[in-house]
Amino acid sequence: MRNDMKALAKTKPEVGLWMEHRPVPEIGPDDVLIRIRKTGICGTDIHIWNWDDWAARTVPVGLVTGHEFAGEIVEIGRNVEGLAIGQRCSGEGHLIGKQSRQSRAGKFHLDPATRGIGVNEQGAFAEYLRLPAFNVVPLPDEIDDEIGAILDPLGNAVHTALSFDLVGEDVLITGAGPIGIMAAAVARHVGARHVVITDINQDRLDLAARVTDVVPVNVATQDLRAVEGALKMREGFDVGMEMSGSQAALDQMVETMVMGGRIAMLGIPPGKSPVDWSRIVFKAITIKGVYGREIFETWYKMIAMLENGLDIRRIITHRLPVDRFAEGFEVMRSGKSGKVVLDWN
Ligand code: ZN
Repeated sequence: MRNDMKALAKTKPEVGLWMEHRPVPEIGPDDVLIRIRKTGICGTDIHIWNWDDWAARTVPVGLVTGHEFAGEIVEIGRNVEGLAIGQRCSGEGHLIGKQSRQSRAGKFHLDPATRGIGVNEQGAFAEYLRLPAFNVVPLPDEIDDEIGAILDPLGNAVHTALSFDLVGEDVLITGAGPIGIMAAAVARHVGARHVVITDINQDRLDLAARVTDVVPVNVATQDLRAVEGALKMREGFDVGMEMSGSQAALDQMVETMVMGGRIAMLGIPPGKSPVDWSRIVFKAITIKGVYGREIFETWYKMIAMLENGLDIRRIITHRLPVDRFAEGFEVMRSGKSGKVVLDWN
């Protein structure tokens, strides 16, 4: 193995990312070293590329970015059991502490000391990634590297979608980004009746309809109430998934929910946003904030569903060799893409 690797890093505090040579990470006794094969570009990476306020506050200059990956284990720390060299894997990018009450209760995704690879710690946009063995998720043969590389965002979608019982329910998803679209596919897979997805970006709505059996609604030009009528829904949506971070979308969701409806929120509003609480109280609506993936229940469920026919492959709209990473970021920033996967082979 070489001791020098290619890595995509935030070298300067300005717009962009730069391909650099870095030393291959050294692993500790509880870590593995992963040879990265494919990576996905996330909205988070776009914030880091753009160097917006959040990124400038959060990401240390010099950091190797990226957290969506699939690869192969090439080295194993001396304490590690149950993993083998040559094992294909993806992994949970949230590095958790083990001291908090939630962590000790086994709710690892709620640990307040969580640090993210590619955000706070050295990331996966590199030929090699060091990862605690605890975070490794082995991939079965049925899940290839490009799907393995998008299990992180699929996990967000699965975590959100499985927050509430969807069997026979009418579901509204606001925001047709890749996670919203994958959540729609999951809702169909687990037996929702109608799944409606809204956005104001027609390209994304068209993509949603190509990925899964969903009713796309452009709320800039179409009336959501009329769509409900056409679907013969009588009292409104049973379950909502807010994926856009848009105030208008959340308002419309609350407006169109049934009494006692349930909303899972993954979208992040840009700042504080006003909420009409009285409407939420009078409609007896339950709201759940969703963060990350349940470690490792979400991973178990999504791999099981993929093995059981959940098909989200068409969400990948662009496949590029890593040397063309700038094109990948450009198409993501244009809003005219689904998932963009970079090939590190
Ligand atoms: Zn991500």
